[in-house]
Amino acid sequence: MNTIYRTVDKDRIDMSVIEEAASVIKAGGLVAFPTETVYGLGGDALLPESSKKIYEAKGRPSDNPLIVHIAEFDDIEKIVESVPEAAKILADKYWPGPLTMIFKKKPIVPDETTGGLDTVAVRFPSHPVARWLIRSSGGYIAAPSANISGRPSPTSGEHVRQDMDGRIDMIIDSGNCDIGLESTIIDMTGDVPMMLRPGYVNEQMLESVIGEIEKDPAVFGKADANAVPKAPGMKYRHYAPKGQLTIVSGDNDSVVGFIREKTEKKDKDIRVAVLCCSADSARFPDADLVGDIGSRDDELQIANRLYALLRRCDEENIDQIYSEEFDTPGLGLAIMNRLIKAAGHSIINV
Ligand code: AMP
Ligand code: MG
Repeated sequence: MNTIYRTVDKDRIDMSVIEEAASVIKAGGLVAFPTETVYGLGGDALLPESSKKIYEAKGRPSDNPLIVHIAEFDDIEKIVESVPEAAKILADKYWPGPLTMIFKKKPIVPDETTGGLDTVAVRFPSHPVARWLIRSSGGYIAAPSANISGRPSPTSGEHVRQDMDGRIDMIIDSGNCDIGLESTIIDMTGDVPMMLRPGYVNEQMLESVIGEIEKDPAVFGKADANAVPKAPGMKYRHYAPKGQLTIVSGDNDSVVGFIREKTEKKDKDIRVAVLCCSADSARFPDADLVGDIGSRDDELQIANRLYALLRRCDEENIDQIYSEEFDTPGLGLAIMNRLIKAAGHSIINV
């Protein structure tokens, strides 16, 4: 398949490109598009065939449900049974924005889109290109992240091209995403809202407007191994680079000392990368690649660089990656959640 590639400036949107992309979606095709979190791989959420194509293009298991993106709050009524009061409050505060809420679905939403569940995940993104595209395509775009399943999510048009060229109809490139980590997911179907995936909208931001929430113990690592995660996608390995990633935890000097020794003693045929904050970036002279993730005081920058650095490790054929911890106050839970998954839970305490 020949993939149409277009760039759009988000501050001066070329509506002819939006119309072109919308006609692809309405005809049952797939378009990758920018959002404020990561790039999405979009198809018409109400067409079962489109959702099937999304799973195929990503190589993603079809029991892993898709998020439905809307561009007007009132459009939610057509796809969900009811919107609880707490969800209205959250929508009022954080929509449009990087928050996904789960509701009981109406029959119009096909099983192919929800992975057979009777619930649907809904997000109202703030990115102007996403909003115009959703609106012009009929109002409901199903979109997971626009990466090959298991790889880090794309945070630039170039990342999308690496994974999706030749596999989908069209890519809209608007440069780098502002946040760089996927949306927060919260399930609004129970008595107490339950966070299924941490993101930019963190626990404190949610609790400050709706009071106490729960966190899915299976997702946040507190439950026994047999617990079934509420978010089906959470059981799959995610966000992973090709090399083996290990997180090194402990006080900063011990962590640096441990990683430094690993890079000094490494076998010369093994390519080793280090992910670290700027302050430590000159401390690993023997590493094949030092991924400077930014200042510890700038957590948005850390979030923003994480996936690009993991992809960079793949480009540089890195075999082994050691990462510092980035447990920052606001976004730390989201950053570490992605890093731990990318590491397949491989953590060394020093
Ligand atoms: P992605 O689109 O790659 O950001 O992944 C979407 C995530 O949303 C997946 O991990 C899904 O498991 C989760 N998700 C989507 N719909 C639902 C739903 N109805 N119930 C629970 N989790 C959902
Ligand atoms: Mg994804």
